[in-house]
This record gives sequence, structure tokens and C-alpha cells, in this order.
Amino acid sequence: QAKSDGRAHYKLFSEGMDQTIFEQIKLEQRLRKAVLHSDFYINYQPIIDMSTGSITSVEALLRWRDPELGVISPDKFIPIAEETGLIDALGKWVLEQALCDLARWHKHGHKISLAINVSGRQCINHQGESFSQILSKALIQYGIAPRYLHIEITETMLIDDEVQCLQTLEEVSSLGVDIYLDDFGTGYSSLAYLKGFPISVLKIDKSFIESALESNKDANLVKAIIIMGQSLQLKLVSEGVETQQQWDFLQKLGCDYAQGYFMSRPLSGKGLLSYLESKKEVMELIE
Ligand code: C2E
Ligand code: MG
Ligand code: MG
Ligand code: MG
Repeated sequence: QAKSDGRAHYKLFSEGMDQTIFEQIKLEQRLRKAVLHSDFYINYQPIIDMSTGSITSVEALLRWRDPELGVISPDKFIPIAEETGLIDALGKWVLEQALCDLARWHKHGHKISLAINVSGRQCINHQGESFSQILSKALIQYGIAPRYLHIEITETMLIDDEVQCLQTLEEVSSLGVDIYLDDFGTGYSSLAYLKGFPISVLKIDKSFIESALESNKDANLVKAIIIMGQSLQLKLVSEGVETQQQWDFLQKLGCDYAQGYFMSRPLSGKGLLSYLESKKEVMELIE
């Protein structure tokens, strides 16, 4: 009896595993096709200067639309793209597509900057081409000055391959492309990274912003991050700002920039252009 119980448990476990692996493989196959067919698009979310209320930059957020599965969240497919190496092609696609859009907005007179999310793998040299070479080629191709491009990296990425990563980031930074540390406070990074790596901006993770008005501890944590950032001459962006109260709280603390649904959801390229045009009209009325 005990033996057949054991088998039953084994079978159940094994079926569950098969299911997950099956789904993973299916997603992976579809992702490969999607990369070939460019079944992706980019949404752009405005980042607002808290002292002037004007839009200074946008973050490029990748979307995948599968004909069968619908729109799939980057939290789901970016890890697969990283594991399979597809992120190299995908990362290049995002860079070029976003710079192409940026060049168009600049032509319309909107001199905003662009932030791109970058995975750890992209920092490693591929086929003799370094990441900073990829960036500088694309910047030249689309006629964009390096100061209009930022890259966002995460703390985990710094730990994974410290030496290679440091070298790449130094190259990127000497190009004139600023480096933002994303989701700050959620990784395992040591504060020493802030000293050793060429980082110029901290993005405070949205989980802290979410609970800052409910928990004293989180409010104090946000305060502490802002004070620390300021004393290290870093700029600060708050992510996930959803309410007027959160905006007021962060503005009082002297946070430099804010991003979140309160100001704008991520928009299509077209949507962003009308957002920019409408803000321009408001500004022209004021002048
Ligand atoms: P992230 O870089 O931290 O991006 C911010 C995420 O917060 C985005 O999720 C955005 O839609 C969401 N968000 C913005 N404002 C609010 C708000 O007020 N409230 C809440 N609850 N959420 C808000 P999204 O677009 O689903 O992207 C998830 C993650 O996927 C990104 O987190 C980034 O790590 C990754 N990702 C997106 N695009 C790319 C890409 O092109 N390359 C790489 N390597 N990663 C990417
Ligand atoms: Mg980001
Ligand atoms: Mg983030
Ligand atoms: Mg994130």
C-alpha cells in the first residue's frame, strides 16, 4: 500500500513538473518566433521633474503581443529571454526602436531623454562587440547626443558579474550615457556599489512608495534613501507614484523626479506624442 502511495505522489509531482516545463518550452518557442517577426512594441512612461512639473524623460517599457496568448508582461518573458540569450537581439531591437521614436520627438521640438532597461547579459561582450559599442553605434545612427540616453540597471546585475559589469558601465558612462540604479532597495546590493560604480541616479522602488503613507517605517526609509542619495550627489526618482498624497510627500522631501500612474500610465509612441503636444500648449498659454 505504502509503495503505491509513493508512486501516486511521484506521478503527481512529475506531472506538475512536466506541465511547468511544457509551458516554459512553449513560451520559449513562441518567444523565438516573436523575435524573428518583431512581435513587440514599446510603451513609454513619462518621468516628471518634481520642481517644475515638466516631463524630462520617458522610460521605454517593452511589450510582447503573441497572436495566441495575447499581451505578455515583461516580468514573465524577460527572464526567459535572459536564459535563452534572446535578450541580445531583443535588447538591440528596443534600443533602435526607442532611439528612432526619440529622434522623431526631437524633430517635433520635444527635447526629452530616454531611459532603457538593460539586463546583465547585455553587459557581456558578444561577437567581439561591447555593449558601449552597440550604444554608440545606435546613437550615431539615429543622430542622438549621448546625454539624451540613460540606461537602467538593477542591483542583482552588479553582483552577478562585478568585474565585467564595472568595466562595461565605466565605458558606457564615459560615452556620456548616465546610469540609473532601478528598483533601489529591493536587491542585495551593498552600499559600496554606490561608491564604486558610475551611478548617477537612484530609482526608489515602488514598493516603498506604495507603503510610505501607511507605515512610518517605510516613510522613514524613503526619507533616509533621499537624504543618502542627496549627500552622495545622486539624483532621485520615485517609481510608482499613484496619488496626490504620495506626490506631495515626496516633493516635500526634495525628491527630484517622479514616475507613476498619477502623472501618466505607460503610453504608446503616438500617445506620448499627443501627451507632449498637449503639455506644450499648456506651457505656451502660460508664457
Ligand atoms: P521597471 O524597470 O522597474 O519598470 C517599472 C514598472 O512599474 C513597469 O512595469 C511600469 O509599467 C510599472 N509602473 C509604472 N508606474 C506605476 C504605478 O504607478 N503603479 C504600479 N503598480 N506600477 C507602475 P512593466 O512595464 O510591467 O515592466 C516590468 C519590468 O520589466 C520592468 O520594471 C523592467 O525590469 C522589465 N522590463 C521592461 N522593459 C524591458 C526591456 O526593454 N528590457 C529589459 N531588460 N527589461 C525590461
Ligand atoms: Mg526600469
Ligand atoms: Mg523599477
Ligand atoms: Mg522592476
